[in-house]
Amino acid sequence: MSCLFCKIIEGSIPSTPVYQDELCYAFADIHPQAPVHVLVAPREHIVSMADCNEEDRALLGHLLWAAAEIAREKGLDKGYRAVVNTGGDGGQSVDHLHVHLLGGRPLAWPPG
Ligand code: 5GP
Ligand code: ZN
Repeated sequence: MSCLFCKIIEGSIPSTPVYQDELCYAFADIHPQAPVHVLVAPREHIVSMADCNEEDRALLGHLLWAAAEIAREKGLDKGYRAVVNTGGDGGQSVDHLHVHLLGGRPLAWPPG
């Protein structure tokens, strides 16, 4: 297994856990871009949103639900952003699907 996030999820690479359940594992980003920067990844190795199929519809919804739960738990009542970078043009650097949850400061729009 060569995938960085699979190793984080199975625990062979350390991470700071934020939330976990049977479908996903959420952990602190190593280079946070906001006071709260959490990555929500499915336990199953899926490369990206572009690689999801019909069977993954519920899982995709679950990842967003988990991000919302974490945002509530972190007290992000002024708002936050959930982002899924996808592929080269999307700025994806780790090829294991993940939702970025960013919050705790005002976030500019549009992104770069
Ligand atoms: P992407 O660019 O694929 O959307 O996001 C990958 C994210 O993973 C980046 O925000 C990066 O900081 C984070 N990251 C990369 N390597 C590690 C690591 O070893 N541990 C943790 N916790 N985050 C990582
Ligand atoms: Zn993986």
